[in-house]
Amino acid sequence: MRLEVITDPKAMAEACSVARMSGLTIGFVPTMGYLHEGHLSLLRAARADCDTVVLSIFVNPIQFGPHEDYNRYPRDAERDLNLAKTVGVNLVFMPTVEDMYPQGYSTFVDVQGLTEKFEGAFRPGHFRGVATVVLKLFNIVQPHRAYFGQKDYQQLLVVRRMVQDLNLPIEIVPMPTVRESDGLAMSSRNTYLSAEERRAALAIPRALNACREALERGERIASEVRRAGLAVIESEPMLSLDYLAVAHPETLEEPDVVGSSAVVLIAARCGSTRLIDNILWEEAGGT
Ligand code: AMP
Repeated sequence: MRLEVITDPKAMAEACSVARMSGLTIGFVPTMGYLHEGHLSLLRAARADCDTVVLSIFVNPIQFGPHEDYNRYPRDAERDLNLAKTVGVNLVFMPTVEDMYPQGYSTFVDVQGLTEKFEGAFRPGHFRGVATVVLKLFNIVQPHRAYFGQKDYQQLLVVRRMVQDLNLPIEIVPMPTVRESDGLAMSSRNTYLSAEERRAALAIPRALNACREALERGERIASEVRRAGLAVIESEPMLSLDYLAVAHPETLEEPDVVGSSAVVLIAARCGSTRLIDNILWEEAGGT
């Protein structure tokens, strides 16, 4: 199968329109590139469900804060295109920053509520940048389905909310977090970690597991569940915690007492690298 790479937004919209007009379903996976198994799992799901698989690779400057890692974010187009071929991607959209945000660009999407806490609080403007670029990409590609990883749990909720609020005719498909064999969630940012930081970062999935174990042995007091995870993080001096929260999986409200399901969200810094992860927990036998 041929893989077509397009950089111009108009040409991309045209190619997607041709596919749609021929009756093909379009599955879309937006990414910032430097692909790993997490991204590939989304692409494989799109390949299995849809006729045409579209991948976008764009390191979106407006979702990075002024002191964040936009400039050093890893980029390797050749490697990404080779990986894209192996999973049967049909179209790759790789726009330039100037094409996405030309001189005079002035329009932004603000999803309220869900964006206020956690990542939104630690990265002001982040979700505004995410929602804006995702809406632009949706308008260009006009996919039937779009695949998002639960690794970025709050982002998934924000995108879902935007799709619902703005009546976009797109099905958002959530996909489970892909992990390294030792439990660390795959992330393009893992390449920043030194060997020592990489080892220390394992306290993140261990903390989440400690929270899960607390829930599974019947603990329902949210502060106690949280305490189980905090103990793990505090035992790792190389980690500096931004937040560890036990929240409702849809509203992200933090209950005092956990109901039949919860998401445990964590963000921590390891050296100069900021990592996020989460687990979704549902009571066994729950609906
Ligand atoms: P990114 O390139 O980091 O912006 O991620 C692009 C898409 O891949 C987003 O929907 C992410 O949630 C998803 N993703 C990133 N890492 C993982 C992972 N470890 N497992 C599953 N999906 C992931």
